[in-house]
Amino acid sequence: MIQATLERPGAVKLAALPPLALYVHIPWCVRKCPYCDFNSHERSGALPEKEYVGKLLEDLESLLPSVWGRRLTSVFIGGGTPSLFSPESIDALLSGVRARLPLEPGAEITLEANPGTVEAGRFRGFRDAGVNRISVGVQSFDDAMLKALGRVHSAEEAKRAVASALAAFDNVNLDLMYGLPGQSLALARADIEAGAASGVPHLSAYQLTIEPNTAFYSKPPQLPEHDLSADMQGMIEDFLDEKQFQHYETSAFARPGHRCRHNLNYWEFGDYLGIGAGAHGKISFPDRITRHSRMKQPREYLAARDTLTEEKVVSPAELPFEFMLNALRLPYGFSAGLFQERTGLPLSTIARPLQAAEEKGLIERDLKVIHPTPKGQRFLNELLELFLPA
Ligand code: SF4
Repeated sequence: MIQATLERPGAVKLAALPPLALYVHIPWCVRKCPYCDFNSHERSGALPEKEYVGKLLEDLESLLPSVWGRRLTSVFIGGGTPSLFSPESIDALLSGVRARLPLEPGAEITLEANPGTVEAGRFRGFRDAGVNRISVGVQSFDDAMLKALGRVHSAEEAKRAVASALAAFDNVNLDLMYGLPGQSLALARADIEAGAASGVPHLSAYQLTIEPNTAFYSKPPQLPEHDLSADMQGMIEDFLDEKQFQHYETSAFARPGHRCRHNLNYWEFGDYLGIGAGAHGKISFPDRITRHSRMKQPREYLAARDTLTEEKVVSPAELPFEFMLNALRLPYGFSAGLFQERTGLPLSTIARPLQAAEEKGLIERDLKVIHPTPKGQRFLNELLELFLPA
């Protein structure tokens, strides 16, 4: 039996810097969903859009000295519910971003939208502002399921929102959830069928989990048994495979050419700047990798002169786990060279845990690619534990 301890890593030496993305957090929602542990806050009255966009651009400006000469490969405006902001505010934000940091030609620019907060004209406005990908938080096409989830929209509004998004954008993602209170396999199947039939080229399917600090945590609903949720997951994967959606990340499925480049950059351990309340970021330098995070409470964030709460160099001992936490979400795996390219550490640093994972049937590898097996995907936590720092 091989002992799965990591080699004590030496110094970080990056030969080239990874792609750089930008994450923008907009922290308000119409109402807080009972399962949500994101940094989202129920809005009360008009949103301080202008002030907030100004603050976002200040955050970006403060990061510029760390990324001189680099270009953005993607922008993701997430939340919260960014579609509560007007197209004019999103236009001011994206113009401000472009004026400070160049975007790669054809850079992917995603905005998250929730049904009930958008109509056709608003989608066209976001498109005119430069957004080229929309992610719609549908969660279910069943009114009873939406009610159980505490969502503010109906199934009909969800369908209308997806249709309006598709009228303005080619690149649309739809978020669905399964393993919902009272959900049967047939109901989960009906949702995924409706999602695929809607015509979107990208679907995300997340299992509902009960997270601390949520209303569901204090008053948990009755969820389907573990085996039934596992059956739902298998059904979703098989059904979408039949419909020519590639399963390219634990929860993400795309038609050819429609993988989310922004999220792929996270999973491939690329860099990203985090601006907005509660946003996180990661920046690489030739000799170190750093992380930053910001104040979560919108009021505190808006009032602060400096919104950073943390800025630290990631210790080389933590990098293998951090890399694997992302890369092992990719069923097709990652190239053997990517570990060294993105962490600045030689692959020999993880030789022992890789061998242990292989012996347990959790990964397969050849000279070019390392990927989790179906067993490794199912027991991802067990696999990841092998890469924890000693
Ligand atoms: S709409 Fe999304 S971000 Fe907002 S509370 Fe619900 S789950 Fe959270």
